[in-house]
Amino acid sequence: MTSSFFPPQRTLMGPGPSDVSPRVLGALARPTIGHLDPLFVQLMDEIKGLLQFAFQTTNELTLPISAPGSAGMEACFVNLVSPGDTVIVCQNGVFGGRMKENVERSGATAILVEDAWGEPVDLEKVRQAFKSHPEASILAFVHAETSTGVRSDAEALCALAAENGALSIVDTVTSLGGIELNVDGWGADAVYSGTQKCLSCVPGISPVTFSPRAVERINQRERPVQSWFLDMQLVMGYWGANAKRAYHHTAPVNDLYALHESLVMLEEEGLEAAWARHAKNHRALVAGLEAMGLTMAVAAEHRLPQLNSVKLPEGVDDAAVRSALLNEFDLEIGAGLGALAGKTWRIGLMGYASNERNVIRCLSALEAVLARQGAAINTGAALSAAEAAFS
Ligand SMILES: *Cc1c(COP(=O)(O)O)cnc(C)c1O
Repeated sequence: MTSSFFPPQRTLMGPGPSDVSPRVLGALARPTIGHLDPLFVQLMDEIKGLLQFAFQTTNELTLPISAPGSAGMEACFVNLVSPGDTVIVCQNGVFGGRMKENVERSGATAILVEDAWGEPVDLEKVRQAFKSHPEASILAFVHAETSTGVRSDAEALCALAAENGALSIVDTVTSLGGIELNVDGWGADAVYSGTQKCLSCVPGISPVTFSPRAVERINQRERPVQSWFLDMQLVMGYWGANAKRAYHHTAPVNDLYALHESLVMLEEEGLEAAWARHAKNHRALVAGLEAMGLTMAVAAEHRLPQLNSVKLPEGVDDAAVRSALLNEFDLEIGAGLGALAGKTWRIGLMGYASNERNVIRCLSALEAVLARQGAAINTGAALSAAEAAFS
């Protein structure tokens, strides 16, 4: 007989999923009701309002897609891009590359604006791309690049798109709840996120929001959206304000209890307070890592507080350190990706996991494991440096 699965209690400080709040796990275990139950429909309306709050938007078309962040990405591209379109895609890490794939699979041409991994999107290169491709109808970029820990200037990029008569598609999977995100203030057009990064929620849901301009573009499409499941016009039959809530797919009912709970928690804390908490824990972690003698991989002004890329010290075995942290300390941190593989670690401080206890736990466990490996680090300095940053 196969027995039940009981996962260990890990501390998730990688690139996601991050620790889920016990309140959210509790919500997940509440009784399942029908996806057309009037009480469930009320819950859907509350989730929509809470997402509008979190995204800072009044966009009517704001809802959670019943699938992970990658599906939110795909929803934005398949609904807004038609065959023959030209889309400028900014790539400075893993996720820009996936955007390019989405553009090309939609039958459109992707114009890549590339920046080094670890650098933000260069506005001047985007300006040049619009000059060389005035036909471009969309600018797509990642606000918080989780593969490197870099923040790009979303406000300026959305403004560049608007100046050039293009719509913006913005990946905010790692930004929502962790750093400032102001969809209406920035004039962003199609924005998708995820639940498992800074929302303290389980993976598997993707909040999205579309501006009235984006909705107009969707309504003017000549060809139907190639994806039946992600076709926003069909999804709106279930999620839309005046819709009769017709069956489209069975909503992941309990996952939506979880999302609702996580958004209630965000509302209780307040957006600015949540951003400030992420910033404070980040400063303490960096102070500790630097006191240990480690070097951050991203310039201070471009760092994401919720995803900290730090360089491996000389002569250290990447995989051995991460597996010691996991197996002996129940602590997960992320490996570097792509150009940064084997050169950096990615330490997440996202959502519920962004707290003082985790900063201290991570610094002490990392110090113990590195010291054992004989790495050239300063021992005994990290915790007091972090404590000093907290006080
Ligand atoms: C995690 C992540 C995604 C993908 O989300 P999934 O839920 O894994 O599908 C997309 N973009 C960014 C920036 C991410 O960090």
